[in-house]
Amino acid sequence: MDSESLRKILDLERQKGYADVAVFGGLDKFLRNWSDQAVGSLGNPRLLVRFHKIFKTSYANMTTEQRREWAKAILGFLNDVEGKDNTVELPTKAPPRKKSAPKVKKAAAPPGEPGLDSPVTVVKGISTSLSGKFGKLGVKTVRDLLYFFPHRHIDYSKMKLISQLVEGEEQTIVANVWQAQETKPGGRRSTEAIVGDESGNIRVVWFNQPYLAKKLNTNTRIMLSGRVSLFKGRHVFLSPEWELMEGQDLVHTARMVPVYPLTAGLRPRQVRKLMKDFVDLWAGRVTDFLPQGLRKRLGLLELPVAISQAHYPEDETTKDKARVRLAFDELFLLQLGVMSKKRDWQGSRPGNVFDVSQSVVGRFLESLPFTLTAAQDKALKDILADLAQPKPMSRLLQGEVGSGKTVVATAALLVAAANGYQGAFMAPTEILAEQHFATICQLLSKLGKEEGEGYLKSYSGPLERPLRVALLIGDIRQAGKKQIQKQVLEGDIDIIIGTHALVQKGVEFRKLGLAVVDEQHRFGVEQRSALREKGFNPHMLVMTATPIPRTLALTLYGDLDLSVIDELPPGRQTVKTKWLKTGQRDSAYAFVRKQVNEGRQAFILCPLIEESEAIIAQAATVEYERLAREVFLDLRLGLLHGRLSSADKDAVMESFRRGGLDILVATPVIEVGIDIPNATVMLIESADRFGLSQLHQFRGRVGRGKEQSYCMLLAENPSEVARERLDIIENVQDGFKLAEEDLKMRGPGEFFGTRQSGLPDLRMAKMSDVALLELARNEAIKLFEVDSGLERVEHKPLAREMERVWAGAAEWS
Ligand code: ADP
Ligand code: MG
Repeated sequence: MDSESLRKILDLERQKGYADVAVFGGLDKFLRNWSDQAVGSLGNPRLLVRFHKIFKTSYANMTTEQRREWAKAILGFLNDVEGKDNTVELPTKAPPRKKSAPKVKKAAAPPGEPGLDSPVTVVKGISTSLSGKFGKLGVKTVRDLLYFFPHRHIDYSKMKLISQLVEGEEQTIVANVWQAQETKPGGRRSTEAIVGDESGNIRVVWFNQPYLAKKLNTNTRIMLSGRVSLFKGRHVFLSPEWELMEGQDLVHTARMVPVYPLTAGLRPRQVRKLMKDFVDLWAGRVTDFLPQGLRKRLGLLELPVAISQAHYPEDETTKDKARVRLAFDELFLLQLGVMSKKRDWQGSRPGNVFDVSQSVVGRFLESLPFTLTAAQDKALKDILADLAQPKPMSRLLQGEVGSGKTVVATAALLVAAANGYQGAFMAPTEILAEQHFATICQLLSKLGKEEGEGYLKSYSGPLERPLRVALLIGDIRQAGKKQIQKQVLEGDIDIIIGTHALVQKGVEFRKLGLAVVDEQHRFGVEQRSALREKGFNPHMLVMTATPIPRTLALTLYGDLDLSVIDELPPGRQTVKTKWLKTGQRDSAYAFVRKQVNEGRQAFILCPLIEESEAIIAQAATVEYERLAREVFLDLRLGLLHGRLSSADKDAVMESFRRGGLDILVATPVIEVGIDIPNATVMLIESADRFGLSQLHQFRGRVGRGKEQSYCMLLAENPSEVARERLDIIENVQDGFKLAEEDLKMRGPGEFFGTRQSGLPDLRMAKMSDVALLELARNEAIKLFEVDSGLERVEHKPLAREMERVWAGAAEWS
């Protein structure tokens, strides 16, 4: 056991006042690695129990006082370990071993009274109190429970003789119990047993489960699955899964064993047993909604079989087949859904025809200090053509960070205003809304005389009447907000820019004609449709800097037409990107300092520690203070995180923009859109924790001016996958390629956060399934061609399933 490194870190922590700064990325992560390695060298059960007790607590969640106590406990523990002998003796009598193959029973299908939509309490073994616990996991109905799939499976199907056991692997043995007794290692009631087969004996310890001793009578045959540890040269099974061999179906051992999501009050064994009985009984009652012909042609498993195999698969191959069938369902239903939404949206509602020949566009483009790129020009033409149609535009404008989407959107907003309609521009964060407001005002200022200040500006020149542009965000003083809302209602404002405050109650438009939504994937479908509802079938332009591969875009956003700005304005540089190895932190800091001395500015991005905004903010604060105190004493540092008030955020951003700060220490709030041309360095801490697209967004914060810019990535202990990502980001600049790689690694559900986006859940679909995605899409199109209303008899079950799946998702139109 490497106690030296742990002692050193604890000492450092003490010196730093237990602020969790001794190791980068936090102590918990270090401890996890350390304890994984250390546990194997502990032989004495008493020490083991103490070990588990000490190391299962989270350092990050402790108060300073608790941390001090805890550090003491560890030091005491280390002293004890090093002072004592840990050997344990094992008896060595070999019992006979009989062969027994695991069986798997197929799902039966007796028709029953309660249906799939009945509450889970109709399931045998689920009481009201248990149903509450399942409720916490999103399981309310029988159907939910059928689709309550395990996170993963542990493969306990590898049977071994005791003499063949090796450390670290998941393995299963069948053995005879020689003796089992309650023990009290470290004062905790536990069970300790000696079991054996013809090849040898092994000791088994179950901590905290004294009741087991009574079940394991001498000569009981038992199946054990789990990992084996090595203590002083001898194998020991620590708290393995166990099952008595009584001729029933195996649930916990000797097979692919499911690992279910749990919540307080649900135990793994209990859930597994319950699910086994439940799936055996109920899976057969599910009707397959896919048309038979289609299912057979594609070679997909029947739905009941797929469901039961997804829970308790016979083997790896069948498990995969089950996943494919279920993933196909998700993608197919999604595709059919978006296609019919688009049809409903465009078919049933007339849009407002704009006169796009207005001279205002030409004058606007002439006033710009640059000419549009060919791609921008093409996108603008697409948009103008849509606006001239009597059906509402529904277009996705996709383009790299900095490809110039805002200019294009501004031209479209001017057309709306020139036609006497209002335009709305919705951004995902307040910082961005403000920045867009500033950018759009600046673009317009070259067109005519600017008046007004703060949140409301007016331009004489572009139109015959004054053109009024306003900002509406949650943080504006109530009185000012009321005033702007009133003006929006009365039609006194032509272009309104804001956050989702725009779609909240109290905002009514006089005549909303065009809605622009920036950074699409951060908005839910619900917010999109809420904005639609504010107008008279307004035209809708959705913009995203996430370059979604085309197939996926068409599947997820099948209700939108697609324009892509696939080139950057001329003269854009590539940002030099380097992944620094451990130990190069100081040279990274030196580089930052050098750039600052040359008059440039830098971002230092703090790692994503936890999902909670509060914890991220706190970590950023600690890092900011450390850098200010220990590294960049003479430079001007600013701090930006999501917990600051809007006024403080503004002040920091403004100061950085003006050059009043050299370095901005920030959390991932700065992911999107921020535009500071003088910033040339982006230093990303714990870069291994971010996805490729996210890293690319961060990198897009620099390289926006004339100076060569740099992106440095720090990663302490990257996993294999993370290494791969870092390699890719170092060498690939093209956001499109990166997004594709990212999707391959993460899967669309996670990538887009489908849960928040109002789309049906994607749980089984992965992005390595590009082929499946295309298949689902083609099949959906084929079906749509022959029976788009799903009216044929053979499509009735599918129609019902569609209704069910999409009823839970948001209303689109
Ligand atoms: P996006 O919203 O796509 O990230 P922006 O519209 O914010 O990009 O444009 C990024 C920067 O590039 C802005 O400063 C903008 O003025 C500038 N820009 C836009 N189009 C062009 C162009 N065709 N040529 C030169 N610069 C451009
Ligand atoms: Mg932008």
